[in-house]
Amino acid sequence: MPDRYAVIGNPVVHSKSPLIHAEFARQTAQDIVYVRLPVPKRSFRIELDRFMAHGGRGLNITVPFKEEAAAACTQLSERAKFAQAANTLTLAEGKVIGDNTDGAGMLRDLENNLHIAVHGRRVLLMGAGGAARGVLMPLIARGARLVVIANRDMRKARELEQRFGLFGNVRARAYNDLGGSAFDLIINATSASLQGMVPPLPGTVFAQDCVAYDLVYAAGGTTPFLDRARDCGAAITSDGLGMLVEQAAESFFIWRGVRPDTRPVLDMLRSAGA
Ligand code: NDP
Repeated sequence: MPDRYAVIGNPVVHSKSPLIHAEFARQTAQDIVYVRLPVPKRSFRIELDRFMAHGGRGLNITVPFKEEAAAACTQLSERAKFAQAANTLTLAEGKVIGDNTDGAGMLRDLENNLHIAVHGRRVLLMGAGGAARGVLMPLIARGARLVVIANRDMRKARELEQRFGLFGNVRARAYNDLGGSAFDLIINATSASLQGMVPPLPGTVFAQDCVAYDLVYAAGGTTPFLDRARDCGAAITSDGLGMLVEQAAESFFIWRGVRPDTRPVLDMLRSAGA
């Protein structure tokens, strides 16, 4: 019997994770099946227990269950503790071991695929939800000179400033206080692009040679934020498809102990119009 894995979320019908993990498994000759598990909003725990009872070996967790998943874990990695969210669960002998591969996935995409270093950069991180929390500590650990967090709900941004400011130069700012500041790397960790919207950024925040990165991925590789960034002179723009594949590879490595080659999978998704 192949080992069983799944992605849990709501909605999950459009998730590319089964395709990505099937490719990884084929490439590395691992005998697994990986399916989508759509779960009603209040039924996460029930589905987790059911999947475990049927011998499931691991789960990826997506919106809106990452926080609930972290709370359900018997053990959490350091990066999941910092993020207060888990996107990768390993299930073994009744234990649920949680990790968060979002930050590692984004860094691998920036560094290995796009050849962009974070060290010494002034970073603007838009958003203060689960994804922003997942990438914040890895940005600090990589030596970002400054990380400014901008969010509509400033209470959430200030909370992150307080918690992560112990480890690096982290500031919370309202969008309308960003005039006069310029950044080398601007990361959109909001879901605004999914609504066809752009966070209310002044055009002056894009420094010369600025890199604009959107966690959201979209057909054709562009999003409303990336369009705006190009209009404002950003030198490099990228959506989050690379991050999606890289965070999946990190999950696959946790589960199977083998690191797949992400490049052909990313190329396949791009040429399929993702
Ligand atoms: P959350 O729901 O936890 O947070 C959403 C964030 O977006 C909040 O900070 C919210 O601000 C902000 N926001 C929503 N709409 C707008 C808007 N119109 N203008 C400005 N800000 C807005 O979501 P996540 O943090 O989990 O995910 C964020 C995005 O990242 C999602 O679109 C998700 O698909 C993507 N993602 C991509 C990954 C990848 O591998 N490529 C991995 C993980 C996430 P406020 O608090 O003020 O409401």
